[in-house]
Amino acid sequence: MSETITGAELERAGAALAAESARFAGLGWMRGTSGNLSVALRSDPLRLAVTASGRDKGLLRAEDVVVVDADGAAVPDQPRPDQRPSAEAGLHARIARVAGAGAVVHVHVLAPVLAAERWPGGVVLRDLEMLKGLGRGAHDDVVTVPVVANSQDMTWLGDRFEDGFDPATPALIVARHGVYVWGDDLEQARHRAECLEWLVSFTLAANQAGHI
Ligand SMILES: [Zn+2]
Repeated sequence: MSETITGAELERAGAALAAESARFAGLGWMRGTSGNLSVALRSDPLRLAVTASGRDKGLLRAEDVVVVDADGAAVPDQPRPDQRPSAEAGLHARIARVAGAGAVVHVHVLAPVLAAERWPGGVVLRDLEMLKGLGRGAHDDVVTVPVVANSQDMTWLGDRFEDGFDPATPALIVARHGVYVWGDDLEQARHRAECLEWLVSFTLAANQAGHI
């Protein structure tokens, strides 16, 4: 694959990101202009296509996308120099780099944020069929989803992410904020995000009911 990212290539990525964003917005997970999604275009040097900042995520167009580098900064020479990435693109890039992810979704979904209030040291999931959706075992497996404090400093957040990184757990909860989930591609990242939301919602509700 060539070094240069063409306008057509970026538009394809932008169309996929827009479609995924609309699905998440429909679930109420990207309210206002919150959240952002990314997909890797190149691995060396790392280049990600990220949803543009400040847009209604239910109404994104294929052109509402920007190319960022390994630090989450917009690259100077790209097909959409008019678009700006969110500061959160820095954490997308860190996750893509450390986890080798092909796609990262960041959504402000409620259940994981509530669970982080209850379990600030990490949210433990076990004995649930839906764990298979995270690539883990439904039995005899304990999945701890890391929780990090919120910050506007993406380098600090990235360092905390790396501190608790487990290659077998493709999710990170940012307290009082939202969740990052990743996978080989956008579809796998979405499936994992959907399964994580179910797992965390069940665990919270079961805990509140006194069952676990
Ligand atoms: Zn956010």
